[in-house]
Amino acid sequence: MARLQIDNLTKVFDADSGPIVAVEELDLDIKDGEFVVVVGPSGCGKSTTLRTVAGLETATEGEIRIGDEVINDKPPKDRDIAMVFQSYALYPHKTVRGNMAYGLRLSTDLTDEEIDKRVEEAASMMGIEDLLDKKPGSLSGGQQQRVATGRAIVREPAVFLFDEPLSNLDAKLRKHMRTELARLHTELGITTMYVTHDQEEAMTMADRIVVLNDGRLQQMATPKEVYYEPVNYFVADFIGSPSMNFFEVELETDADGGGRLGNESFTYEVSERIVNNVQDRRSDRMIMGIRPESMSPADATTPEGKTLSARVDVVEVVGSDNFIYLDMDGKECRVRTPSTIEPALDTTFEFTFDEENIHLFDIETEQALT
Ligand code: ATP
Repeated sequence: MARLQIDNLTKVFDADSGPIVAVEELDLDIKDGEFVVVVGPSGCGKSTTLRTVAGLETATEGEIRIGDEVINDKPPKDRDIAMVFQSYALYPHKTVRGNMAYGLRLSTDLTDEEIDKRVEEAASMMGIEDLLDKKPGSLSGGQQQRVATGRAIVREPAVFLFDEPLSNLDAKLRKHMRTELARLHTELGITTMYVTHDQEEAMTMADRIVVLNDGRLQQMATPKEVYYEPVNYFVADFIGSPSMNFFEVELETDADGGGRLGNESFTYEVSERIVNNVQDRRSDRMIMGIRPESMSPADATTPEGKTLSARVDVVEVVGSDNFIYLDMDGKECRVRTPSTIEPALDTTFEFTFDEENIHLFDIETEQALT
């Protein structure tokens, strides 16, 4: 077990078309035993970060440390890291036992007996004892995934790296394996970096989530923080499904300290707190964000000045919830409600939200105004 530190990491690839900056000045401090999930759009540098930590790519700049030791110049096999790939990367001609033992044979002085014991322990942890003498080709995707994870466990590494390990599995098995990996992490407590495209995976598994965009760190925080307190427009837009609604608004202030956020389509009364929060904005216009689930139908109890209205375009039934797609003067607005709320198409839908759920971003810097 160990702390993993990435200091000022930059990775530039020399492609035919010119240099590609895949990771830029990245700082991450991952605590001993922490489970960190890395998310971000395709091409934002998730895999490159992981591969550089593993030693499969060399850092252009910056330092990577496990515990107190800088590992930049160590070959992958001496880094005390085990990596599980999306493709599993199992050797097809070796048995499961052979696959699991291979790394240990290469990188340790353990006797055959000791290796056998470790392989059997890991196999039992992953529930694959019965598969030890089979070849990967005869296994299902889920079984291959277990073998790949088992092979990583056997190494008893200081750090686990997972690069989209569950993305080749069907939805049900993915959920099951997610729970198993979480259990494994609780049991072993090994510092873990885990890359995924699946936000549900990130939200449920992570101690902290790392959001990357264009090779740069956007936010590193708990799942709740990235969801409820996104530091900028990018994180607010990227995290959550269906995604946050955004409106360009201006603020009109009243003599009593409060005011109204609004644009050509609506106005919404806000308190002095909001007025104070946005004082440092660089432009009159701001971006206002509201999550679809923070909106609800307006009724007689809705305070004055806090009702918005728009035309119902589509109602999508998703299990116990409805996604209502509204047309607000040509702009789409998404509302998530219980399935009991079923407005008719083409009617006017009146809705509201609590002021506490409003996110405001500077239109120039795109940073949260708080
Ligand atoms: P995805 O989610 O699609 O897997 P990612 O976030 O893991 O994407 P990376 O694979 O790390 O992104 O790629 C980051 C950037 O670096 C991309 O622009 C990619 O094209 C580029 N890149 C990655 N590997 C190489 C390479 N070996 N040579 C040149 N460019 C590369």
